[in-house]
Amino acid sequence: MRRISIFGATGSIGVNTVDLLERQGGAKAFDVVALTGGRNIDRLAAQARALRADLAVTCYPDCYAALKEALAGSGIEVAAGPEALVAAADRPADWIMSAIVGVAGLQPGLRALEHGTTLALANKESLVTAGPLLLGQAARKGARVLPVDSEHSAVFQALVGEDIAAVEKITITASGGAFRDWPLERLATATVKQASTHPNWDMGQRITIDSASMFNKALEVIETKEYFGIDAQAIDVLVHPESLVHALVSFRDGAVMAHMGQPDMRHAIGYALNWPDRQDLPVPRLDLAQIGQLRFSAPDPARYPALRLACEVMRLGGLAGAAFNGAKERALDSFIAGEIGFLQMAEVVEAVLDRLSGESGLINVEINLDNVTEVDHLARRCATEMITAVRIKR
Ligand code: NAD
Ligand code: MG
Repeated sequence: MRRISIFGATGSIGVNTVDLLERQGGAKAFDVVALTGGRNIDRLAAQARALRADLAVTCYPDCYAALKEALAGSGIEVAAGPEALVAAADRPADWIMSAIVGVAGLQPGLRALEHGTTLALANKESLVTAGPLLLGQAARKGARVLPVDSEHSAVFQALVGEDIAAVEKITITASGGAFRDWPLERLATATVKQASTHPNWDMGQRITIDSASMFNKALEVIETKEYFGIDAQAIDVLVHPESLVHALVSFRDGAVMAHMGQPDMRHAIGYALNWPDRQDLPVPRLDLAQIGQLRFSAPDPARYPALRLACEVMRLGGLAGAAFNGAKERALDSFIAGEIGFLQMAEVVEAVLDRLSGESGLINVEINLDNVTEVDHLARRCATEMITAVRIKR
């Protein structure tokens, strides 16, 4: 039986992964090694019982007792805290879903790759902050990294049987997020609740807000560069309100392969789970005659400064991705806490990048876990200073 672990099992990607495992036979078909989560103990315990996992881990030490109690009598081992999370990645497994949100997903993923485990990667922050480290580790250990982000799964599928050297351009699409049709002046007043509703995709809160600001697409552009190893200039973003075409690959002979499907993450998760085969998936089917029309447009730079910042990050290289992501995560926390406005997230991130890009510690350093962590912390501290300044201005 295939041994499987899910990091971030209780989140949006995690729940969809569990759903697919259950539909494909659950505990009878898979040997579930470890499931990890945060404060949603009831969900984590229910998942662990349903899949008869060996181990359940919460990343919060103060949730240990509750998880222990929820799993009493089940025979399922319980652990808590960031070290326990990394230790869970040491448990032998064949396939691991990396679906923790944020840079916290990097270390368990790296550890899993060290053991040669196939890594289904939803956690885009791993590639943005430490792409060469993660992929270098995979190459050294002969381990696979399979993309789970829908756009990257789409590109991956369009490239089956193709030579990356024949690719002229990769285009990833963006719905335009919650505020696509809002007048620009109104964006400054956008609330957390408004930003937390996505027009097409049902996702975790953080990535949903990142979709409204296009920070998500900015991360994905960098993710594309890292994962497929192509030049920044060969990556394009297209606003596509229907979210039915997920990505397009343009080849040197003028051919363009588009990947289409309803916006349902179980497609990309299922593809990574069953790769290199395809299995029946419970996703709604596409009826183009009924849909009738698809719309595409270039993103408006004034509306989406995050995309410009992504270009700057790719130009800088080195640990600029770690600085960008750390500042973004801190700015997002601050927006969610009501400390700064929606547009100020990009202002804060840009100011942090400006400040840190002058520092030699960002560019000409080895990309290892210590340096990534240091730059992440530095960017967060720097963002905190900027946020304080913004709040005084407000
Ligand atoms: P989510 O917020 O719904 O779930 C996040 C999971 O990570 C939860 O299990 C939570 O308990 C855990 N977690 C949060 N902080 C943690 C920490 N510090 N340490 C350990 N665990 C922690 O997030 P999501 O929407 O499922 O997204 C997960 C990842 O997948 C993100 O990187 C996101 O960008 C990516 N992704 C998500 C979608 C989607 O449809 N939701 C699509 C593409 C990519
Ligand atoms: Mg995506």
